[in-house]
Amino acid sequence: MAQETIFAKIIAGEIPVEKVYESDSVLAFRDIAPQAKVHLLVIPKTTAYENVTELAAGDPALLADMVAVAKQLADEHGEGEYRLVFNNGASAGQTVFHVHAHVLIDDLKEQSLGG
Ligand code: 5GP
Repeated sequence: MAQETIFAKIIAGEIPVEKVYESDSVLAFRDIAPQAKVHLLVIPKTTAYENVTELAAGDPALLADMVAVAKQLADEHGEGEYRLVFNNGASAGQTVFHVHAHVLIDDLKEQSLGG
């Protein structure tokens, strides 16, 4: 099992977040330090997996559920297209060792108009 992380505290309700989706197995909320106009995090409620490699090997159906939630959120918060980022390992930028997907949605129309 992974070490206790800040996401375990969020799942336990000990740290408040702005939730955008919740089921028995998956939680999604706004990132505290957004890197895009919409920046959401999708996490499984289990603390068993530190990164997506472990999750894919251990529970591929749960990984598929997370991707489905990401798509649903991209429809709700944008126009259905999105970047899905998993950082794997500290040198790749991972700071929280509880698997999570970053859902990043930029306003592409505004960018194409030069801001
Ligand atoms: P990583 O760098 O591990 O891929 O992503 C961890 C993400 O969690 C970061 O984007 C960071 O801003 C976010 N984060 C860390 N602590 C909190 C918190 O307490 N609340 C929220 N909403 N996001 C957090």
